[in-house]
Formats: sequence, structure tokens, C-alpha cells
Amino acid sequence: MAAAGLGVAPAHASNSGGLEAEEGVEAKPAPKGRDGAKLSPPREKASRPKRTRQRRPPRSRDAGRPTLSAFSARPSRFFLYGKPATVAFRISDASRAVKVRLDVLGTGGRVLRRIDLGSRRTGSVQTYRLTGREGGHLPQGAIELRIEARDPGGRRLKRTTKASGVDRIGFYWHHFPVAGNFGFGGDGSRFGSARPGRLHQGQDIPTPEGTPLLAPRGGRVRIVANQPGGAGQYIILSGAGERREYAFFHLQAGSIRVRPGQTVRTGQRMASTGNTGSSGGPHLHFEVWEGGPWQGGGRPVDPLPYLRNWDGWS
Ligand SMILES: [Zn+2]
Repeated sequence: MAAAGLGVAPAHASNSGGLEAEEGVEAKPAPKGRDGAKLSPPREKASRPKRTRQRRPPRSRDAGRPTLSAFSARPSRFFLYGKPATVAFRISDASRAVKVRLDVLGTGGRVLRRIDLGSRRTGSVQTYRLTGREGGHLPQGAIELRIEARDPGGRRLKRTTKASGVDRIGFYWHHFPVAGNFGFGGDGSRFGSARPGRLHQGQDIPTPEGTPLLAPRGGRVRIVANQPGGAGQYIILSGAGERREYAFFHLQAGSIRVRPGQTVRTGQRMASTGNTGSSGGPHLHFEVWEGGPWQGGGRPVDPLPYLRNWDGWS
């Protein structure tokens, strides 16, 4: 897992939200189920006799608290170096602005990040673009987002049944490279299988010609070229924030929509798969090189374990 301080966090983000100092107030935890559901059947009965007492100071604790009326995170999955997720919220309060913080929690409820969203206007929808790079790369998998806010008087955010202020979202580091029907072929398609005078340095992915080819990782397109007797139309991509390069061979003629030097996002369409060069049928030949550049210091590794992983969520 990435530690803080990779220097990629946007100016907004910080692990020490302005609300941090008051964290102790939170210490008395409301009884809560695994998913935040109310565990409070006794409350109904218990509150009934108290009602007369509460009449004197009429609900002073809730009065004037900032209230959450909308909260969502979209889409349901987002990718490192891909399109950020949009977190949207609306808070009503007597004051014009409240201090807002977004907490990112892991599956076990552990707080992974506290992102200071600064002072935000009340009464209108506010947004934040979550990149997953706030304070370093977030771990991949399911994460939970929880919004917190305080008004200038220090009153804490009141959640409603309509807007609990909690949402779940998936975050992943890589995307499967084709969007459409595909297979992994037989033994001859595998990394390390025999080819005339050499070994196969990638994994073949049979897929119909014209299937969208997506960047498995955002980064920089290093090479776009044609090798009629071999790779055919091909692209070499350098992954951002990792020492990896990716090769995509036999692409459909005329389908390439990226240029050398261009930055792409994870999941962005770069071309269509095809059957150009030395190819016995429509497929993507896919290589992963680690530790250095493709054909220039790196070494090819078996892409299949990665592909199976990425297929699990892409
Ligand atoms: Zn191949």
C-alpha cells in the first residue's frame, strides 16, 4: 500500500483535515450496525417517557445543525489514472458555508484518508473529483466514502434517511484492455510458447476485429508504428506511476486514435483490435514489460495473471 507523500495529491487534499482537532467529540459512538443501519429498537420505547422532559429545551442539540440532503459518488467504479469519480453533496444550514471533509474507509472500516474539502457553500450541490491519488495511491478494491461537516458554531452534520452521507465505490489500478468478447486461446497463445526461432513474449487474446482497445493503465503513449511482417499496427504505452510498459500488436488498420507523446487515461480507447502484420486470425497480442522500457532494458513477464485479475472488475 502506498504511503502518504508521493507528491501527487491535488492542492485540495490533505490528510489533516481542518476538522481533525475536534475528532474527540466523535468518540461516543452511536450504536451502529455493520452498514450503518440503526440498531436501536429500544430507542422508541426509551424516548417516549423522556418526551415531556425534552419539551423544556426543545431539541436544542439538533436545532441549527447543518443537514445533509444529498450525497452520492459516481460511477460505481473508478480507476487509478482514469477518469475521477464525482462526489456530490448538498448541505443546508443557516450559515452560508460549512467546513467539509471526506473520509475514505477500507473494507474493514479503517480510515484510509481524510480529505479536506475546505469551506463549502450551503444550499447548493457541491462536488469533489476523487482521483484515488489523494495522499498517495489508495489501495484497490471496495472503499467507503463518508462525508463530515461542521458549521462555524462547531455543530456537526446531521444525516437524514434520504442522505446518510455514506456510499460505496470500487477503485482499481488497471483496466482490462479489450471491451468486447474475448478469450485467452490455447497453449500456443500463452506467454513463453514456442515461435519459429524464439519464444512468444506476450499473451494472445482472440477477439473480433474492431473490438475497442482500452489503455490498461493511464500513462504516456511512447510508440505508434507499423511492422508489416510482424507486429502489424502497434502501440507501446508507458504506465503512469509504475515501471511498466504495455505492447499491443495487430491493431486494425486506420483505427489508432493516439499519437506518440500523448497522455491517456486508464480505460481510454486507443484503437481497435485487428489482424494486421503476421497474424493468423483476429486477436490482440498483449505484452507487459517490467523494470524498464519495452525492448530497451525491461523484461517481458507473463500477462495472463494480470489479465485474469483485471477481468474480475473491468
Ligand atoms: Zn502473440
